[in-house]
Formats: sequence, structure tokens, C-alpha cells
Amino acid sequence: MEFLLQELKKNNIIKKGHFKLTSGMHSDTYINKDLITSNKEIFDMVISGFSNYIYACLVDREMIITSPAVAGIPYGVATAFHNHMQFLYPEKDESEEMYFRRGFPDIIKGRDVLIIEDIITTGKSVDSTAAAIRACGGNPYGLLCIWNRTGYKPMWTKFSKTLITEKVISYDAANCPLCKKGIKLEDPKNAMQQM
Ligand SMILES: [Zn+2]
Repeated sequence: MEFLLQELKKNNIIKKGHFKLTSGMHSDTYINKDLITSNKEIFDMVISGFSNYIYACLVDREMIITSPAVAGIPYGVATAFHNHMQFLYPEKDESEEMYFRRGFPDIIKGRDVLIIEDIITTGKSVDSTAAAIRACGGNPYGLLCIWNRTGYKPMWTKFSKTLITEKVISYDAANCPLCKKGIKLEDPKNAMQQM
């Protein structure tokens, strides 16, 4: 979805420059993903994109949708509602691993579950959600995300789709070509506050 990428850039949700990421790595791209749901046109575009995949890939509407807590949940809920599918949410334990409670494990048992996520960097949240589905006796069927920016490949499914396919390269701080070029390093959190 080249158009979605352009809209994210136009609305300053994706910024180009020289950024220090929370991991300490440096990158020429920063995405302020918290702004996506606050822009109704872009939010609509994302949910339509996910729904197109559900339609095109003949995803069974009897499948359950889930999303890693917390930031993925609005996309899962909206996509489930749009496609008349069931949605259940996990929560995080003290060690940041996902698990289901509230009677959800009994519903998940024996069912296929589609995971919908916003931005994937390491894949830790979706891997943890897939493990939580398995722990309930369900099958983590596949993954839809807005942007798999590192090219992460899930070990638990072959069904993995991303709305934005462009990859973002990040560099070790000690070996960053942007530093070598002398481009000013920005801390994205500060940059966003100035907007
Ligand atoms: Zn740098």
C-alpha cells in the first residue's frame, strides 16, 4: 500500500532524518505509531487494508481475531467489527508475556486465531501472543500487520502479511553512516513534542 506510506509521511507519522530509537540503534526513519488511530482517514485506510487481506486470502469468518496488548488492540477490534468476526484480547503479565484470561481460553480452545498487530520490529509481542493462543489449545493461524519494518518472519505460521512492505534499516550507534556524514541526531520523543 504505497498510498498508505505516502499518507503517513504527509501527516508526519513517518519522519525521515537521523533518529535514536528506543533500542539505542540509529535509523533514518521514525514512526510515531500512536498517531495512527487519531487520524480517522488513515485509521480507515488501515482497517480497509486488513479487510482486503481477509477477503482476498479467504480467511474463514469463524476465525477469532486477537491483537497484542495494548497498542494493537484497536486495529484488531475494528477489523473484527468490520468483518463480523469475534475478537478476544490478551493481557501482559509482569514479564511482559501475553496470556488470556476472562474465560477467553475456553473460547480459543480448538479454534484458529488470526493475530493483527500495528508495527513489528522484533516480533516479540506477536510471538508471545501466538504462544498464548497455543497455551489455550488454539491455533495461531496467521499474522496481519501495518508495517513489518524489519522483515521479521514468524516461526509459527506461513501466513504473514504487511500493509507496508518497505524495510527500515537501523544501524549500531558506533557504525552509523548518518553519524559519519555529520547529520544531526534527533531524539524522536523530543522531535514529536516540538510539533
Ligand atoms: Zn547515527
